[in-house]
This record gives sequence, C-alpha cells and structure tokens, in this order.
Amino acid sequence: MKRSILWGLFAFFLSASTHAAEFLVMSDAEKEVIRAIVRETLREYAAALNDKQQATSNSKEILREIVQSNRNFMQKNKPAYFAHFADGQHPRATVVTCSDSRVQSHALDATPDGDLFMVRNIGNQISTAEGSVEYGVHHLHTPLLLIVGHVACGAIAAAAGDYSKESNSIKRELDTIQIPKGDAGLSSIRLNVNNQVRQAMNMFDQHIISGQLTVIGAVYDFKNELNQGLGKLNIINVNGETNAAKIARLDLMRGLDAPLAKGGRAKSDH
Ligand SMILES: [Zn+2]
Repeated sequence: MKRSILWGLFAFFLSASTHAAEFLVMSDAEKEVIRAIVRETLREYAAALNDKQQATSNSKEILREIVQSNRNFMQKNKPAYFAHFADGQHPRATVVTCSDSRVQSHALDATPDGDLFMVRNIGNQISTAEGSVEYGVHHLHTPLLLIVGHVACGAIAAAAGDYSKESNSIKRELDTIQIPKGDAGLSSIRLNVNNQVRQAMNMFDQHIISGQLTVIGAVYDFKNELNQGLGKLNIINVNGETNAAKIARLDLMRGLDAPLAKGGRAKSDH
C-alpha cells in the first residue's frame, strides 16, 4: 500500500474517531480539508484495489469487446467517412429517448452518425435535459424533434410506484414524469410521451407556428404490445395531435404506415 494511502487512512481514522468531537467544532474550511484528504485516499485506494481484484474481470472483458468493436469500426470506415464530421455537425433530428439499452438509434436510422442529435435520460423527459434539447433545436436547427418512449420502461414503472427511497438525483428525474400511481402500462408510457411533447411545444411554440419545427411523440415497441409489429416506432403524437385517425390523414404521414410485407419490407417500398 502506498505511503500516501496509509497517511490518508491514518488521517481519516484520526478525524473520524479520535477527534470526532473536535470535527464537530471545526470550521467549514477545516472540515473541507479533512474531507478532501478522505476523498483522495479513497480514490487512490479504489484505483489500486481495482487493478488487482478478480471482480473486475467482467469489466475487463466488456472493455476488451468495446475496444475491439471500435477497432472494427475504424477499419471498416475509410477516412472519407470521418472527413465530413471534422467541420461540424448538421443533424436532421433532435431525438429525446430513454437511456434504456434496448432503445438504440439504429432502430430509427440506418445511418445515425451526424444525423441524429441524441438526448438520453431515464424516462425520455425534457425537464432535466432542457439545455440539450434547446441546443438541438436552436443551435443545430433540426426541423424535427422526436420524443421516443418505449414499452416496459423502468422509469415509468418507478414513477408509477413509490420511489421515495431513491437517491435525490434519481428522484429529481422521476419527479418530472407525471403519470397516475399504480399504472406502469402503455397508457402511462403514452401519457408521458404526450406530456413531453406538450412541454416541447411550450418551449418552441414560435418555431412550430412558423413551420420550422415539427414535434413528434412516439413509442418504440420491442414487445409488440401495440400489435403493430415487433420493433415498430409507433407515432402517437404530431405537434400535439394524438387522435390516431387524424394523425394518419396528415400529409406528413402519407405512405409511412404501410404494414410490413412478408419479406419484412414495408409495402410502400415496392
Ligand atoms: Zn425507459
């Protein structure tokens, strides 16, 4: 064990036990010095421990696969592929979606690189990500803002239940999800998407009125709970319109909702 770690631990125990009473009467500045020593000690100790522990073998394997995947990506893509990223980005859509690992951009866009400005958090909510969403709309000028909820959402399940024992950070995000208690199903998932669309419309009303921005709400369905096909992105809200028949008649939607043909391609592809 490093000397600095020993010193730090010594300082920690000294402050925590022998001088517990004195700690209470210390000035804030003195307490902060002690806390900084403890934090630094724990950081060094964790790093030294981490490198030796057997428990990190999982992390090692995952990191190895990520590094290998990245190498494959580098080899697959020629310099020309990256050349047009160098001078900035020009995405066509700002997308607010859940962090859920089952929801990924390749389900929405065959070539998401440079195309989708992704904002992700638990519950695909705008309140804790307003700056990011605003950046996509105001600075990158994406004509589309797509809010994507999904079936079997853990954030919706949590928000529908008692999450009072969660950390303040998690509570702060779940507090933004306004759904009835006890209902973690599709109606709550849809309600949350509709609430987020409403919030986006309040934020960007001028852009919507002038026709510069369209806000879309959708539910990505990897369980076919909506009976529209496995993996379908179901559009449930267009600029605040939630009536399915009215949405289907919008010019924006023409030819988009053709059912899949046997080969898996949409009929409109033929
Ligand atoms: Zn989710």
